[in-house]
Amino acid sequence: MASLPSCIFCKIIKGEIPSLKLFESDKTYAFLDIGPLSSGHSLIIPKHHGAKLHDMPADQLTEILPVAARIAQAVGCEDYNILQNNGRIAHQVVDHVHFHMIPKPNEAEGLGVGWPVR
Ligand code: IMP
Repeated sequence: MASLPSCIFCKIIKGEIPSLKLFESDKTYAFLDIGPLSSGHSLIIPKHHGAKLHDMPADQLTEILPVAARIAQAVGCEDYNILQNNGRIAHQVVDHVHFHMIPKPNEAEGLGVGWPVR
């Protein structure tokens, strides 16, 4: 499993930086985003380090969307966005492939966030 010692998300996977863990398997890790765009905003990441989606071996990505859907269900969320940024122009800040699961609460509840995000 490729890991980059200087990578903040590799450090989270190894427990060197604390996280609010939601799911873990041999190849996938999920945790709450530290700067949530809405309540329940989660990050689902492959444990294998790769900066961009096209760097990733396909077999490291197979659990990502099922886990995102399970987390959405677990937080009682029917409406949500899955977002994955590649490169600075595309607003990627952390260079370890990650998928955002961003709940879109009912606007009537006053918790809605706008689109596009960022
Ligand atoms: P990006 O813009 O797609 O690269 O998003 C990176 C995300 O990682 C942002 O939503 C940050 O809030 C989140 N993030 C950065 N550092 C941490 C951390 O230590 N714990 C949890 N989330 C983080």
